[in-house]
Amino acid sequence: MPRVLDGAAIAAAIKQEVAEEVRALVGLGVRPGLAAVLVGHLPASEIYVRNKVQACAELGLYSDLIAPAETVTTDEMLALVAELNARDDVDGILIQLPLPAHVDAKALLDAVDPAKDVDGLHPVNAGRLQAGRPALAPCTPAGIIEILKRSEIAIAGEHAVVVGRSDIVGKPVAMLLLHQNATVTICHSKTRNLGEVTRQADILVAAIGRAGFITPEMVKPGATLIDVGINRLSTREEFDRFFQGDAKREAAFSKRGSVIVGDIDPKAFEISGAYTPVPGGVGLLTIAMLMANTVRAAKMRRKIADQDYNFARGERIP
Ligand code: NDP
Repeated sequence: MPRVLDGAAIAAAIKQEVAEEVRALVGLGVRPGLAAVLVGHLPASEIYVRNKVQACAELGLYSDLIAPAETVTTDEMLALVAELNARDDVDGILIQLPLPAHVDAKALLDAVDPAKDVDGLHPVNAGRLQAGRPALAPCTPAGIIEILKRSEIAIAGEHAVVVGRSDIVGKPVAMLLLHQNATVTICHSKTRNLGEVTRQADILVAAIGRAGFITPEMVKPGATLIDVGINRLSTREEFDRFFQGDAKREAAFSKRGSVIVGDIDPKAFEISGAYTPVPGGVGLLTIAMLMANTVRAAKMRRKIADQDYNFARGERIP
């Protein structure tokens, strides 16, 4: 039977550790703070930001939700970022994506002080991560490493295949796996004979954005499957393709009119050694790692010793 890598339990453990660190910092007179910037009213973005602010409250971090009007200009957003960069009570700045098309998202992400870039998207942090220096790493990739390490899944010497090369997931997770001494292959939409490559994976990370794209034929039996994808199925035909006869999901589909599936066909999980379910896997780590990054940023800015990963050595710094 494959092992289910329980994102909820791992996220809860990380949150507990973060809350303990926050308590210790508050004892030193420092309350780590996160500024979340939400432009517009995209329902998914509103839910994500609400969950992030709620996590801050649960773990004892200070948070400030700033919601500029949808008509905000790039210049006004740049002025806001400059203000947040200068505020001493703000350790982390999160700009919820996507932004309206008229706002230059890249210019904004580049304007965030790298020391407060808790999403790990600034080129300085991307460069530091690649160079194996202490960096604020993107939250979802950092969460994937936490899942593997805390589940005691060997990474060193294993062949890790990452499908997807985005700046948010694919590239940084490949880099983190490399720093953990995996042999890493990165695949994308132009990769030839994708199945042949993915079948070589001891650890297969799917960050593609296409429902159930990785089929059982593309998986080596016994491999560890990390499913990053979040795809909504809202027609009966889509539902039946993956979940026909699944009573629990059928009930959810009838109630909400949709269910979520990852980038890996759930049938592939059956032949794996271990896998992250969707929902209940990688997605739950993202907010936990955002909280961890905010605390880490607070400590780095104040030169308080850090306990996070040394990316170069793949170890926690004692
Ligand atoms: P992007 O759209 O930015 O990147 C998708 C990648 O998949 C691209 O590199 C693309 O290749 C590759 N790809 C697309 N089609 C194929 C194909 N047919 N064969 C091989 N590769 C292909 O997506 P993200 O990285 O932002 O997100 C990926 C998924 O993860 C999404 O479902 C998203 O919702 C989810 N996600 C989940 C998070 C979480 O918290 N769990 C956080 C972030 C994302 P190319 O570069 O050649 O176009």
